[in-house]
Amino acid sequence: MGKAWNYGAGPSMIPVEVMEKAQKEFLDFNGLGLGIVEMSHRSAEFDAVAKHAELMLRKLLKVPDNYKILFEQGGGRGQFAAVPLNILPEGGKADYFVTGHWSRSAYLECKERYGEAILHECVEQDDNGQYFINYQKMQVTEGSSYAFICINETVNGIEVNQLPDTKGVPLIADMSSNILTRNIDVSAFGAIIFGAQKNLAPSGITVTIVREDLIGKARKYCPSVLDWSILAKYDSMYNTPTTFSWYMAGLALDWIESIGGVSELERRNAAKADLLYDYVDSSDFYLCPIKRQDRSRVNCVFTLKDESKNAIFLQEAKKHNMIGLKGHKVLGGMRASIYNAMPREGVEALIKFLKEFESQYA
Ligand SMILES: *Cc1c(COP(=O)(O)O)cnc(C)c1O
Repeated sequence: MGKAWNYGAGPSMIPVEVMEKAQKEFLDFNGLGLGIVEMSHRSAEFDAVAKHAELMLRKLLKVPDNYKILFEQGGGRGQFAAVPLNILPEGGKADYFVTGHWSRSAYLECKERYGEAILHECVEQDDNGQYFINYQKMQVTEGSSYAFICINETVNGIEVNQLPDTKGVPLIADMSSNILTRNIDVSAFGAIIFGAQKNLAPSGITVTIVREDLIGKARKYCPSVLDWSILAKYDSMYNTPTTFSWYMAGLALDWIESIGGVSELERRNAAKADLLYDYVDSSDFYLCPIKRQDRSRVNCVFTLKDESKNAIFLQEAKKHNMIGLKGHKVLGGMRASIYNAMPREGVEALIKFLKEFESQYA
């Protein structure tokens, strides 16, 4: 049937060049007579693979010297716990800027288990029912230990484009679904967390980029595998890391550099999203529930005006070898995730399908 177009939210597509390189090296890495997945994480060979990935990430994101890059397990949700466990003191408080499903999940994780989380609802609906971010709501509370924000809401299809002024309070950002999709100024954040499975690598590896002064404050009962100071001290090898995902991340970072770095990905991603949204906006059959300026460039949420056609839409898409278009269960509708590895042709193919479906079912 050929290669599927996978618009799923994650795990998601990986560049074919990266898949091929991994396949070529799978049984025999660098002539060593064994594959990466068989190799000790303590070996000199794997150490070089790990260091290379870290170096490439530092280079491509221009991570300043006073930030550590930690590789761990537990995913984005693991870090929702790690953040308060590491930087919210007992009896302290933290601000949560909620713009959708994931920032709300982070807020609940903190509030229900670790301490005072202050909720700021930052998304509103205009007179047409379209959602938008009210940046005025992003105000830090005096005495807050940090402010948490999710830069791209994977489920809701909302992306933050301007950062709040947190008056010196560290801004902690979840970039699980948009890391490396556009340029960012790392120095604007106290910490950035992301799981690799959307824009970088297979699932299994999670990354925390954290300013050094925020390391070393963990609560006594913070599990050691989530304690940033322990991860930093042991170069993220306190326990066995997900070696394969770490290696794949390195290959993907090499690929990103080879095509022109994050700036080129930013250009491509913006062009892909514009193409799709222009079509959706021009159609009377589909609609996007989010105001244009706040739409995600990588998770494009749209609905069929006639929701009774949802099931047949997904069936037809599957026949065209297009998968993963069903929206998240909490929101319904459709969602096309068009991450770094989704080529422009994948977006063009989707638009062609949307047009055909519309002409048949309108
Ligand atoms: C996917 C996702 C998560 C959850 O990641 P897990 O690795 O499944 O824990 C958190 N935040 C955002 C923005 C995501 O897209």
